[in-house]
Amino acid sequence: MKLIALIALLSAQIMAGINQAPSPFSTKFGRAVFVDFQSAEYDLIFNHKEQIAYADTTIVFDTNDEGLPIFDSVSTPQAIWVNGEEVSQEEVYVPGGVSKVRVANAIVAPGKHTMRIRSTIDKGVSFGGKGVSAGFFIKDLKDRMFLERYVPTNYEYDQYKMTFRVKVEGADHRWHDIFANGEVVNSSQNTFEITYPDFYTSSSVYFHLVPRRKYVRYYLEYTSINGRTFPVTIYSHWRFLNRYLKRKAWTVLQELEKDFGPWPHPRLIIYGTGIRGGMEYVGATATSLVSLGHELFHSYFAKGVMPADGNSGWMDEGLASWRDKGYQSHEAPNYYSVNLAKHNKYTRKTDKRSYVKGRSFFAYIDYQLKAKGLAGLKDFLALYFVKRRFTTVTTEDLISDLENYAQASFREDFNQYIFGGHASSTGRSPAIVPENPHHPEYTDQELESIL
Ligand SMILES: [Zn+2]
Repeated sequence: MKLIALIALLSAQIMAGINQAPSPFSTKFGRAVFVDFQSAEYDLIFNHKEQIAYADTTIVFDTNDEGLPIFDSVSTPQAIWVNGEEVSQEEVYVPGGVSKVRVANAIVAPGKHTMRIRSTIDKGVSFGGKGVSAGFFIKDLKDRMFLERYVPTNYEYDQYKMTFRVKVEGADHRWHDIFANGEVVNSSQNTFEITYPDFYTSSSVYFHLVPRRKYVRYYLEYTSINGRTFPVTIYSHWRFLNRYLKRKAWTVLQELEKDFGPWPHPRLIIYGTGIRGGMEYVGATATSLVSLGHELFHSYFAKGVMPADGNSGWMDEGLASWRDKGYQSHEAPNYYSVNLAKHNKYTRKTDKRSYVKGRSFFAYIDYQLKAKGLAGLKDFLALYFVKRRFTTVTTEDLISDLENYAQASFREDFNQYIFGGHASSTGRSPAIVPENPHHPEYTDQELESIL
């Protein structure tokens, strides 16, 4: 590779954030503006006796635009304050109706502000004889299934520091533990504080509160390719499953570190759910044994380099599927044209066709890179990972880095195969897309069953 291209590819990346937000839009309550969360502190109370859970959230945010600040919470807030003053809130459709958000009914001027929201946690909680179970599990193939399903948060572009202060009340002698991909401090019985890194988004957090004796746990250590050791926690209902998960994790970690560099996170948490498929988090996964490799790959692409929006998630599923099938190289994609990345800009979910089509497209890109005498897409990805690590990216970022790497244009290929430039109809998803085995369409009952 030319030296100049390498330097361009590796040049430092600033945190993107608000410049990746969709445009402000008008509502009947006024102009709604996307804002830049600086931090959010969540006081989460789980009351076992009363069988109720609620969140008191304090968000410090910046805005460049005057308007009604946008946030999201699927659960209807009970009360909301902006800069100390109680205001109402409204749930509104985004333009095109592809999702809904909430706005605080208070016009804010450019600058720094504080918003406090009191809400109940309606999903992902169960109260049983052993105590409280709560899991903020996410899905990316359906709208509004990130952190907003449980507590107030922002669109996926926004990276901000989150602190969870967790209390289990009315639980008498029942002890609890937390599995989380942040720093957990268990200061006294049933009281925890979790600090998550400031690059996290609404699709990053792993949070699982469990009664102490609920799972069989393995507390292990893995020695990275660079000699660093990091803690690996594996837990499930079955010792034999933990054993299989460990064996497979060790094999996959070795493979991934060889291809893309040392494990990029301070820890690894593997929850063996006992149901099909899995879901990825930053340095964590809730998964079946079969999907473990796919989900660990996502700690590099999806949760190491992170999608900025619903038009970016296709890259991670395409790449993970490309790995699942052994990094094939194809002279041409096996389809004519499809739109994976040019949906309505307010879209939050990933196109379900990303697995099969994305994999085929990346096999084609790999072929083209090798035809130019370059090492190929895997080699590019290792560099791309170093440059873009812990930032949110769009499809345009991938195109520009690829073009830098190859010193060639891929614009036409992306137009045809990813942006649906020549798709026959409007590029809408067909009604039925076969389910991907690693990310099945969990029902609410399935999600509840792994709490
Ligand atoms: Zn995946």
